Amino acid sequence: MKTLNDINFENKKALIRVDFNVPLNADFKVTDTTRIEAAKPTILKVLEDGGSAILMSHLGRPKGVEEKFSLKHIVNTVSEIIGVQVKFIGNCIGEDVEKAVAELENGEVLLLENLRFHPEEKAGDKDFAEKLSRLGDVYVNDAFGTAHRAHASTTIIAQFFSENKCFGFLLAKEIESLNAVLSDSKKPVTAIIGGAKVSSKIDVIKNILDKVDNIIIGGGMAYTFIKVKGGKIGDSICEDDKLDVAQEILNLALAKGVKIYLPVDVLAADSFSEDANTDVFPANDIPDGWQGLDAGPKTNVAFSYIIADSKTILWNGPIGVFEMEKFAKGTIELGNAIADATADGAFSLVGGGDSVAAVKQFGLANKVSYVSTGGGAMLEMLEGKTLPGIEAMLK
Ligand code: AMP
Repeated sequence: MKTLNDINFENKKALIRVDFNVPLNADFKVTDTTRIEAAKPTILKVLEDGGSAILMSHLGRPKGVEEKFSLKHIVNTVSEIIGVQVKFIGNCIGEDVEKAVAELENGEVLLLENLRFHPEEKAGDKDFAEKLSRLGDVYVNDAFGTAHRAHASTTIIAQFFSENKCFGFLLAKEIESLNAVLSDSKKPVTAIIGGAKVSSKIDVIKNILDKVDNIIIGGGMAYTFIKVKGGKIGDSICEDDKLDVAQEILNLALAKGVKIYLPVDVLAADSFSEDANTDVFPANDIPDGWQGLDAGPKTNVAFSYIIADSKTILWNGPIGVFEMEKFAKGTIELGNAIADATADGAFSLVGGGDSVAAVKQFGLANKVSYVSTGGGAMLEMLEGKTLPGIEAMLK
């Protein structure tokens, strides 16, 4: 795996695919700068070597050219974060762009306009990728969030750089962290899989069954498992068409010697709202009219013990409706248990969607070993899929 440290960028123009798909408010101000900060080390390495950086990204889902999705809105924020006044050009291919690139001096940074203003980007168009490729001497892919897409700037472009391409620091770190959990992991390995639905995590659970010792299943998806084991789940969320899959997973785990832990008690509510009445019930005996919305106190203690005994921890998906304060305790206690285990020397990776939002919201992002930046990409890696953006770099 070739990374930035294998290349000296002196007098070189690095064409860097970053993931600057950041949230903007109504005044077009960036409300979460995590992704820009995550790309900073890569950009600085190029500049410190004595090269220049051409940054390309998508933003949102524009239908053609739509001003509200212009990357010009983020120029000042990117400049502040990397500490260099970033230049901007209102397109990503064409003569004007090539001219701006030719005029770019060492130490300078040029941000191109939203790649998705051209439908060829998502279509993975080869001509478009070739036009982009003219802009740099070296191609650097640092966009983990789009590595599972075979788009022009994330995958197709790599073929035009035979040797002169490498992973950025962020993408390399994502791959390393996932390997630390799935292949070079210290045992016992515990995966915590939460979230609303089993259906979205079936492939993840099946793939990790070969790699972990324990799986904690929490959140809404737990009820499909509890029901198939004969439990009474009241009005809790359940996918009746996935009962057979849940049973298959339980059987596979048994055959492979992987322990599956489900909640033993739950905090249930009489409606899906912050004002609901709540009560604690055994997870397999929830009355009708009540739905489990968070892990109960005994469950929180049990999960904490398992986590404290683990040397490697993977967390994907909240174990309760943490967006409502009343039902956030289980997810907070789980996050704290992971933070404590990490302080004691375990390696912990939090990735994929809402668990990342949860660790940020509860101030735990710096207390775990690694927080992944890519939701869908992380899930596909956990499913055991080869990501096209990563594969293209290895060819
Ligand atoms: P996912 O996107 O699959 O990771 O699901 C995340 C969502 O699952 C969050 O918005 C949580 O509020 C929701 N969730 C977690 N536990 C439950 C539950 N017991 N019932 C309903 N939704 C839940």
